[in-house]
Amino acid sequence: MHNVIIAGTINSVNAIPKGMELLLQGKSALDAVEETIKIVEDNPNDWSVGSGGLPNLLGEVELDASIMDGKTLKTGAVAGLKKYKNPISIARQVMEQTPHALLVGEGADQFASVLCFEETELLSENASDIHQDFLSGKSLVNKPYDAEETMKKKECYFKIFQRLVQEKKMMEWYTKYAKENHGTVNIIAKDMNGDICCGVSTSGLSFKLPGRTGDSPIIGAGNYADNRYGAAACIGVGEIAIRLSLARIAVYEMSKGKTAEEAAILAIETIKDLGEDAGFLTILVMDKEGHTVSAANFEFSIFHQERMHFWIADSLNPIPTKRECLYVDTTTEKEGEGYHR
Ligand code: ASP
Repeated sequence: MHNVIIAGTINSVNAIPKGMELLLQGKSALDAVEETIKIVEDNPNDWSVGSGGLPNLLGEVELDASIMDGKTLKTGAVAGLKKYKNPISIARQVMEQTPHALLVGEGADQFASVLCFEETELLSENASDIHQDFLSGKSLVNKPYDAEETMKKKECYFKIFQRLVQEKKMMEWYTKYAKENHGTVNIIAKDMNGDICCGVSTSGLSFKLPGRTGDSPIIGAGNYADNRYGAAACIGVGEIAIRLSLARIAVYEMSKGKTAEEAAILAIETIKDLGEDAGFLTILVMDKEGHTVSAANFEFSIFHQERMHFWIADSLNPIPTKRECLYVDTTTEKEGEGYHR
């Protein structure tokens, strides 16, 4: 019988005990990951995951999630889910009940409806207020928008969206706001059978373009698990994790004999290949024995005002213990230094 282990990102501390309880009862890593993530998704104060998550530019919450079973390499994911609050459970159903790996948008909502998941209003009052503040004062477009006008109705949001696109300000906007407006939950668990599962859930980049999908539901980018080597999951600027297939890189490195620590550092170091100020990324990596580390290219969490860290619990220490992330400097000496420029 294997030592059970569960590890998760900064925002999972209050959820990990539930996952641990399930693992100690002999439940599967899949069950532990799903139930742990559901608690984070249901936390109204977490504005980066589930209901309570910050919306897209038009004020609609779009949720992404994925789950991967390291035993079978089966996976399920949803992206752009708008009506249901537990995308991780719907992702698991995609894995278990369909021949597919990823359902998006309306199709994902329809699938959830067929399975009788309960429809929920995802936009919380708080998230709506933050969105309106953003539109009225902090938009990157040159002239500030009239707050009154933007607060009136959705067509006004659409105007802002149109203007960002027409004025070709989207890059500028994204570069600035992507650094500050992100968050995701990652959970990796190993059960008594030694099976590993990895789950990821997010409302994505705040105020993103409608339909924008990050790395969280993209297997290989934001999530990967393989019992033979271990698992990895990411938080941060999803586009970078997609461009580099970051989670898969870490698992690949472990398949070549690297430790979890080496694999996490090597994965984050690949950001240098891009030769640009690519943005923030954190990777959580567990090897097949359960050794777990996290590496990040930034030292402090903007929101929690403390060093980047993750939480871990196991059979011997079932209370979540805090561990600091390894810091990896990915700044390049000069623009264009990356290998692929
Ligand atoms: N990685 C997520 C995304 O890009 C969000 C985040 O972790 O900040 O959608």
